[in-house]
Amino acid sequence: MNYLKYKMDDYIKVGDDGRKVLGVDIQPEKACIFDCIVCNRGRTKYQGEWHDFGPIEDSLEDLKKKIAEDKPDLVEIYGQGDILTNVHLEDIINCVHALGLPVRLVTNCYLLGIGEHMRVANLAEEVVGAFGIVEDEAFKKYHRPLPELEFTPAKQTESIIRFSQQYQGKFKLRVFLSQNFNDSDESVAVLKAIVDRVKFDSLWVASTNKLAVPDERVAEITKILNA
Ligand code: SF4
Repeated sequence: MNYLKYKMDDYIKVGDDGRKVLGVDIQPEKACIFDCIVCNRGRTKYQGEWHDFGPIEDSLEDLKKKIAEDKPDLVEIYGQGDILTNVHLEDIINCVHALGLPVRLVTNCYLLGIGEHMRVANLAEEVVGAFGIVEDEAFKKYHRPLPELEFTPAKQTESIIRFSQQYQGKFKLRVFLSQNFNDSDESVAVLKAIVDRVKFDSLWVASTNKLAVPDERVAEITKILNA
């Protein structure tokens, strides 16, 4: 059974650089390492480091057909939750590469620099990775990580830096801001210290929809992080 969905079905967006981008949602349900209080997708159904949605063969056949029909220049892989938890991510990347196209992954940063996740992320030509919460108590309250996995902001920082320093592709770093979680001067100083240690091609700072930070404050923080 095919479980991939395509962005706006048969519509392919054209990126800033004029490339045609086919968006492919590889998560039929929400699987993520976190269960964030701000998540647009609601509660996490499958929370953990890995999830298997079942055999991938039919989905790969469908993806090949879609690419042959739409002839994109790039395939962007995204999905409900974190795509790095999908055990078939490598098969999907390999399928796109076999057709001669580059891949962009859209993910959060936590798993990027960790073991197998890092190996698979390295296969992609472009990675867009997001993070934002950098203090212990805020991290627990916000991301609601599984206690047995012992996820912490310090491990997140190590992971982003480790990944970015060895990655050969294009890395777009995203910093998300949420009111009373990481928009204070103290939090911004910690964010700045982390961003300064990450090797990236571009930086994008934005507020989450829930717990939104006012535009003027987002603009101020963007300036600080880019300085
Ligand atoms: S990491 Fe992203 S997708 Fe996962 S629960 Fe948090 S906001 Fe939702």
